[in-house]
Amino acid sequence: MIERTADTQPHSLYEDVSRQFNRAADLMELNPNIRKILAMTMNEVVVNFPVRMEDGRIEMFTGYRVQHSNANGPFKGGLRFHPTVSIDEVRALASWMSWKGAIVHIPFGGAKGGIQMDPADYSLKEIERITRRFTYALGNTIGPEYDIPAPDVNTNAQIMAWMLDTYLSTVPPHDRNRSLHVVTGKPVESGGSLGRNKATGQGVVFCIERWAEANDFSLDGATFTVQGFGNVGSWVGRLMQQLGARLVAVEDVTGAIAGAGGIDAEALTEHVAKTGGVAGFPGTEVIDSEAFFRTKADIFIPAALESQITSETAPWLNVRLVAEGANGPTTPEGDLILSERKIHVLPDILANAGGVVVSYFEWLQNKRSESWELEEIDNKLRKKMNRGYDRVKEMSDQYKTDWRTAAYIVALRHLEAIYKDKGIYP
Ligand code: NAD
Repeated sequence: MIERTADTQPHSLYEDVSRQFNRAADLMELNPNIRKILAMTMNEVVVNFPVRMEDGRIEMFTGYRVQHSNANGPFKGGLRFHPTVSIDEVRALASWMSWKGAIVHIPFGGAKGGIQMDPADYSLKEIERITRRFTYALGNTIGPEYDIPAPDVNTNAQIMAWMLDTYLSTVPPHDRNRSLHVVTGKPVESGGSLGRNKATGQGVVFCIERWAEANDFSLDGATFTVQGFGNVGSWVGRLMQQLGARLVAVEDVTGAIAGAGGIDAEALTEHVAKTGGVAGFPGTEVIDSEAFFRTKADIFIPAALESQITSETAPWLNVRLVAEGANGPTTPEGDLILSERKIHVLPDILANAGGVVVSYFEWLQNKRSESWELEEIDNKLRKKMNRGYDRVKEMSDQYKTDWRTAAYIVALRHLEAIYKDKGIYP
């Protein structure tokens, strides 16, 4: 049984991960030695570095890179630029990456990083300099066969292009052409993959389609709500709309809007690109956050930040499925309430793994000097997501447990097998 705590207050995200991890490890009787290893992160790098601002001032920044596990392959995970970035948050995000790779069977371990900053406070030129100086400060902490960053909250393909250029400028000329895969999520022209931009949203939607198929539920005419309308949320919105589903409420950092008749996700994406948020989108009603959570719909897709579905907000949800686009959107207390209320959850470490899957495809294309067609990428992604989904379902049936715990068990079994085969050096 999970103990209840005040999850609506700022709390340790890594403790949430530990509680999820311990629940699964107890149930599956994870080998105690392997449990000790996976309960901790492997390497934690903190860099404080100076950047010259446009007015000539020097400002100091703190950046992080936490590497949780490389048992399954090179460390892999996004970089986040956000005021809440802290060692605790990055630890949690890094370990979720380890579980993801193991669930969808891609040969990557887990890492995550970021800079504690609000990008809104800086000009584009300053963000470029911050990105480049951070990359330089990380030095050999990252590398194409060692630790491969990607975009996350407030970072994108442009940031990856600056990181790539900075990294390549620091390696000997002979190594440059074989180092393109040091970051993924690059612009297509600079070695990025078709389909990477939409990959996380696409993976969430593939998972929802699998769930709909299994539950004899038609997505055509279904209703859904989305929290966060950035990369993940806006792609989920557009792709669900293409399947005939209707977006009825959205919340982002600028506020929440509702439109019972349906909010056009394509037009909303253009509006967000122009104005920076969903607020002021014509033809919709402004609602508050509680009303957003209470909106009746078939599916809720959190695609913003962590700890959003809590002991306070979980009772408000009026949906039958939560498909987690964001990392860690549900606290352990929120989970208990969703389970009591029989609201099914497609957990983050399964549902949002599409991003890292297509990052893996990008990494492979770079290593082989290939470029794959979008159709091929989408087909391969669907297969990976479906197999991950089926593994989690099987484990949930076998252990008669919720899908989050089942997803952890899938991941931990995989990593346990690797450690059992390889042993510990020396
Ligand atoms: P993004 O920066 O593109 O978008 C973030 C969105 O969240 C924005 O719409 C922002 O307004 C909204 N938001 C921020 N604070 C909020 C708040 N307090 N209340 C409501 N909305 C708020 O980021 P993204 O890449 O779309 O990432 C979103 C989530 O998905 C994160 O949890 C991230 O870790 C996760 N994720 C992203 C990827 C990826 O490939 N980008 C992959 C896996 C998981």
